Amino acid sequence: MDTEVLVIGAGVSGLTTAVCLAEADHRVAVHTDRLPAQTTSAVAGAMIATVGEGDPGPIARGAATLAEMTALAEQPGTGVRITTGTFAARPAFPSAPPGADVLPGFQMCDPAELPDGFGMGFRGSVPLVDMPHYLAYLQGRLSAAGGTMRVAPVGSLAHAAELAPLVVNCAGLGARELAGDSDLHGVRGQHVLVRNPGLTEFFLEAPLGPTWAGVFPHGEHVVLGGIFDPDDHRAEPDPAIADAILRACTEVVPELADAEVIGHQVGFRPVRRTVRLEAEQLGAATVVHNYGHGGNGVTLSWGCAREVLALLAG
Ligand SMILES: Cc1cc2nc3c(=O)[nH]c(=O)nc-3n(C[C@H](O)[C@H](O)[C@H](O)COP(=O)(O)OP(=O)(O)OC[C@H]3O[C@@H](n4cnc5c(N)ncnc54)[C@H](O)[C@@H]3O)c2cc1C
Repeated sequence: MDTEVLVIGAGVSGLTTAVCLAEADHRVAVHTDRLPAQTTSAVAGAMIATVGEGDPGPIARGAATLAEMTALAEQPGTGVRITTGTFAARPAFPSAPPGADVLPGFQMCDPAELPDGFGMGFRGSVPLVDMPHYLAYLQGRLSAAGGTMRVAPVGSLAHAAELAPLVVNCAGLGARELAGDSDLHGVRGQHVLVRNPGLTEFFLEAPLGPTWAGVFPHGEHVVLGGIFDPDDHRAEPDPAIADAILRACTEVVPELADAEVIGHQVGFRPVRRTVRLEAEQLGAATVVHNYGHGGNGVTLSWGCAREVLALLAG
């Protein structure tokens, strides 16, 4: 089978885009230098909620993803689950919580329901995504639609353009080199994974600053965060940061006090001033870029993938 579309990258952007294209009857091959479970995408929390305020592009992409993820939560085996919980601020949100404008059904809490030190909160339900599980689901869906995946680094876009007439660049931070984009940089995040002591609700401190308490239950385990540090480039988890995350999360959810720590994760968000989603011509090939989603790559994934499909159809 000749490849019609070569997708670079097997994170959430690459796999979602590849699924959209393969299900629209394109002959798709994904080339990636890392397996899905080793990507930044596998580290995400991941909540579908943090959609940019005021800008119609990200809001529409987030809304498309919210609708798709809500439907996926109805199906077994996807890793997506509708989860109720609280966004809370100390002492108060300067405005609505992130995503509240597109998330139906969020209600302001009675302050008495909030942990000590928090002045305002909203309760509602969002899709939470267990990312390793979800990426495996996407990989299966891609293969069911006839798409293929190979572990093969792509040295340059020009080389990719020799392999297929249509190329989609979903290389995440790798696009810095691949597309020569110095506007793209990695912002470090760190998570602590604990065995779930019985939590069913999420908690997220807002607005997100350099550090916050984030508690995301995924059945057997809970993902705890978080930090946002553009100046730290260490790939190894920092034990002092892990302790601070555990302390902050236990303060808001005391049931975590004796939870067994089962893992640590570090990931680098591919931050850019705006997501790059556009087509360019490279010789005879068309290259569509889809990268630079920062801390919202899961939230924007279906909306962006459908835009890529529309661009290629156009
Ligand atoms: C701690 C943390 C928490 C987060 N929480 C959330 C959240 O709650 N909600 C949310 O929406 N987002 C969240 N994010 C952000 C989200 O993880 C990213 O925006 C998203 O994963 C980006 O996906 P991607 O597919 O574009 O990139 P990646 O997942 O980095 O995938 C890039 C792919 O490209 C491949 N690649 C790169 N260069 C090459 C090359 N030259 N040749 C071949 N392959 C190449 C890589 O191997 C990889 O497969 C979080 C991120 C972090 C770090």
